[in-house]
Amino acid sequence: MHWLQYQRGEASPRGVGFWGEVGHRVERSLRTLERQVANEQTRLEQFLSAIEASPNGVMLLDANDQIEWCNSVAADQFGLDPLRDRMQPVTNLVREPAFVSYLQAGAFEEAITFPGPGLRGTVSVLIRRYGESMKLVLSQDITERERSDSMRRSFVANVSHEIRTPLTVLSGFIETMASVQLTEAERLRVNELMAQQTRRMQLLVGDLLTLAQLEGSPRPPADRWVSVQQVLLQVRVAAEALSAGRHVIVCGETPGADEPSDSIAGSEHELHSAVSNLVSNAVRYTPAGGSVKVLWSIRGDGTGELDVRDTGFGIAAEHLLRLTERFYRVDGSRSRDTGGTGLGLSIVKHVVQRHGGELEIRSEPGSGSSFKLLFPASRVRGASRVSQLRDLAHADAGHR
Ligand code: ADP
Repeated sequence: MHWLQYQRGEASPRGVGFWGEVGHRVERSLRTLERQVANEQTRLEQFLSAIEASPNGVMLLDANDQIEWCNSVAADQFGLDPLRDRMQPVTNLVREPAFVSYLQAGAFEEAITFPGPGLRGTVSVLIRRYGESMKLVLSQDITERERSDSMRRSFVANVSHEIRTPLTVLSGFIETMASVQLTEAERLRVNELMAQQTRRMQLLVGDLLTLAQLEGSPRPPADRWVSVQQVLLQVRVAAEALSAGRHVIVCGETPGADEPSDSIAGSEHELHSAVSNLVSNAVRYTPAGGSVKVLWSIRGDGTGELDVRDTGFGIAAEHLLRLTERFYRVDGSRSRDTGGTGLGLSIVKHVVQRHGGELEIRSEPGSGSSFKLLFPASRVRGASRVSQLRDLAHADAGHR
C-alpha cells in the first residue's frame, strides 16, 4: 500500500507468493497505462503542431462558445492571445457584428467575410460543428485575393473603355460613309482618321500581348548576353524616326561597330522593348527643340545604369509613384494624341524587374525627366571582360 501511494515510480516491493504476484501485475498494468498516456500526449502534441503549421486560422470553441484552443494564425487574424484568451467567450473578444451574428444564427453553410480585427485587410470565416455542440472556426486572410480580384476587374473595365472609344469613332465613320456622299477630299480625311483609330487599337492590343507574355513566361536567361550597343543602335533609329528632326537625340557613347560592347544578361527582345518605350515617351513628352539622351554606364559597384533623359514637360511629384500602374496617365489627351496606350511604363517596370533590376524615376515639371533602368552587377559585363573572353577564345582556337 505504501508503494502504491508514495513510490509508484519505483519498482514494486519484491515479495514472494500471492502478494509478490499481485505487486508484479499491478506494476505491469501501471507501466502500460503510463506508456499509453505518454503516447496519447505525444500524438496530441503532434496533432496540435500540425494544425499550428496550417497557413489558415483554426479555432476550437466549446459548447458555450468559449475558446478551447486556437493556432497563432487565427490569433493574428482575430487579434487574440492564444494563451491568455483561452476559455474566454469568443464574442467578448471578437466583437465584429458580422461574426457575432453569424455565430449566433447558427447557419454555417457559407463562409462570411469581414475586416479582420487583427489585420489591415479582410478575413473569410467558415464555421463547422463537431463533437457535442463544439465548433471549429476556420479563417483565411483574403486581403491579397480581394486586391487582385479588384485589380482584374478594373483592368478589364479599362481595356474595354480603351477599345470602345476608337470603335465608336470607327463605326460613326462607317455609317457616315454609307449614308452621305463625300467629296474626294472628305473621303481622304475620313480614311486618314479611320487609319489613326485602327493604329490606336493595334498599339493597344500589341502592348496587351506584350504584358501577357511577360507575365506568363519564365524569367529571362542569366547566361545569354545582349550587347548594349546593339540595343542603343536600334533604339536610336526608332527615336529619330519618331522625332522627325524635332529633337536633338544623343545615344550614349557607343563604341564602333566591331569594338566589344558592354552587355546585359537577359532577353534582347524584352530589353529592346523597355528601352524603346522609354525613348518613345521621352520624344513624345518633349516639345520640339528639346533634347533626348540615352546614357549607359557601369557604376563602381558593377550595377549597370541605362538613363533615358529628356528636357520635356516633366511630371509633378504626386504622380511619380503611380506612373507604372496600367493605364495611369498624367495627361490623357496628350498621351492618346501621340499614340500612347498607358501601358508603356508597366511594360518597362516588368522587364527590368524580370532582369533582377529596378526602375528609378526622377522628374520636375517644366525641366524634364530621367528614367533609369538599373541592372544588378550579376547581369552586367563590361566591354573589357568581353574582349578578354574573346582573346581567350581566339587563343584557344589558335592552340587547337
Ligand atoms: P503612355 O502610353 O500614356 O505614354 P506610359 O505608361 O508610357 O503610358 O506612361 C504613363 C504616363 O507617364 C504618360 O501618360 C505620361 O503622362 C507620363 N510620362 C511617361 N514618360 C514621360 C516623360 N518622359 N515625360 C513626361 N511624362 C511622361
